[in-house]
Amino acid sequence: MALAYDGAIQRLIDAFNRLPGIGPKGAQRIAFYLLGADAQEAADLADAIAEVKAKVRFCDVCGNVCESSPCPICADPRRDHTVICVVEEPKDVMSIERTREYRGLYHVLGGAINPMANVGPSDLNIANLLERLKDDQVKEIILALDPNIEGEATTTYLSRLLSPLGVKVTRLASGLPVGSDLEYADEITLGRALAGRREA
Ligand SMILES: [Zn+2]
Repeated sequence: MALAYDGAIQRLIDAFNRLPGIGPKGAQRIAFYLLGADAQEAADLADAIAEVKAKVRFCDVCGNVCESSPCPICADPRRDHTVICVVEEPKDVMSIERTREYRGLYHVLGGAINPMANVGPSDLNIANLLERLKDDQVKEIILALDPNIEGEATTTYLSRLLSPLGVKVTRLASGLPVGSDLEYADEITLGRALAGRREA
């Protein structure tokens, strides 16, 4: 009984299977799809992966993904430089941008406090956030972490850390689906949570 394919096709299935959210069946489907796709389509995918690894980096200011640092958001004079919205991951920046409710800056932590996974405050991009607060322009920090246990722990930690520094610290209004991820909130719900933010 063959439990694995031979050579290259199995290598591709294994590679997709290691990616988040795909699983063994999805990995097999994608691998066979690519096997049947024309050579150009497969080459475009391989190029896109190589290009992202070669070009994409993290903004030295906010930690978001970008191709040049500072990123276009940090460098945009039309954005409100007095407000910083703190999020866990770059994809959360996209979720908040899609609401079209926010014109301030961002700060990407690169995760959330999670003792079970040995992630503590020192593993997150917090030192750079404190550095940004030395700039008197910043008047408000919005904590927009995921509505789950790790996000809640991180919100509590950051509000205790930041409140004594004389900056207004707010958090998203409740109403987001609890136990989930910001990216699963629809734009209207997230926009409302942002507009209805309250002091942390
Ligand atoms: Zn930036």
